[in-house]
Amino acid sequence: MRHPAQRLLDRFVRYVKVDTTANDSSPTYPSSPGQLILGKLIADELRAMGAKEVEQTDKGIVFATLPAVQAKPGPVVAWIAHLDTSPETTGKDVQPMVHSNYQGQAIPLHGKPGLVLDPGHHPDLAALVGKTIVTTDGSTLLGADDKAGVAVIIEAAHRLLEKPNQPRGTIRLCLTCDEEIGKGTDHLDLKKLGADWAYTLDGGGTSEIDHATFSADLAEVIVHGVNIHPAIAKDRMTNALRMAGILLERLPRTMAPETTEGEKGFLHPYKIEGGVDRVRIAILLRDFQTAKLAEQADLLRSIARSIEADFPAGRIEINIKPQYRNMADGMEKAPHVLPLAQQAMEAAGLAPRLTSVRGGTDGSRLTEKGLPCPNLSCGEHNLHSPLEWTCLEEMDTACSVLEKMAVILAQG
Ligand SMILES: [Zn+2]
Repeated sequence: MRHPAQRLLDRFVRYVKVDTTANDSSPTYPSSPGQLILGKLIADELRAMGAKEVEQTDKGIVFATLPAVQAKPGPVVAWIAHLDTSPETTGKDVQPMVHSNYQGQAIPLHGKPGLVLDPGHHPDLAALVGKTIVTTDGSTLLGADDKAGVAVIIEAAHRLLEKPNQPRGTIRLCLTCDEEIGKGTDHLDLKKLGADWAYTLDGGGTSEIDHATFSADLAEVIVHGVNIHPAIAKDRMTNALRMAGILLERLPRTMAPETTEGEKGFLHPYKIEGGVDRVRIAILLRDFQTAKLAEQADLLRSIARSIEADFPAGRIEINIKPQYRNMADGMEKAPHVLPLAQQAMEAAGLAPRLTSVRGGTDGSRLTEKGLPCPNLSCGEHNLHSPLEWTCLEEMDTACSVLEKMAVILAQG
């Protein structure tokens, strides 16, 4: 039999070679055919290893069950990862390079002359001397986000199924589509998933449990001006572009992503389009305290009113759309979820750390829908980039964490 870590590596390499780049402009779900191809390949693997209730839905979501063995009646826990990869860098023809017994050197990525993965700029890489590092050849992303998570879940399932007499709790497996374009939970039927709580495997490095995320609203600002030929514009034109410029200037620079970190929230204008008669600005509102989103919206409204006072014929409309909520809000109502992950990590020899994400995860959305779902480390590094890499030993440890979790669940 192959060594389990080698089987995990083979599995990871097999998965990243299927192009599952999400496509934001596709009208279909999932947004790219590779997600269906990879999902089918994995569903077949799951059947072959003896998983139960293996199913790929018409939306490409893969479900499976590892039934309990000699377990006290207890909760059903789900492990979730996403099949798609980020459209920010191509995931076509990924050529993973495996660097065994890494010696801390800079790694030239030959697929793009001049591109080098330098441990001097990446301390997390420098710390992994002696380990097995997997990089790209520089011409694509690697897709460890989130095929590291997918491979970890499937390998952990395989290892558990190889020990049919070892007690374990009931585990549901779930692979989703189009997470990278914000649609990862759109077609996920929580009734069908049938879990009491869940963990996404989509985290950086090792030993981290993301237990808090931003709460998020989107502010759509529409500036209405009055257009007329510039030749006869005196006292008749109201230029929406000019009003929009003032609005952007009045957003406090101390409340921006480029000036904040840690627990501080921000307002982030990220898109503007339009002309003299109408301008649309999209602004992200973000804070760990959900109540502060309303204060950010009020600030935006007061800036708009002050500009309208100077441009009597102009008007600024502000529409706030909720996006997701801080995962920690839901975690308070589910006291077993974080301790189980912490216990499993400790049993796997790790010192777990609770971390906050300055963003959202599928877990924030699922937690909000009533399925508490923190995010666990699985060896991801330099996401969405041709400099993406992973560490086999970190993935292997993440497998052990899941195995331990299943065993702890059996103890009730
Ligand atoms: Zn991801």
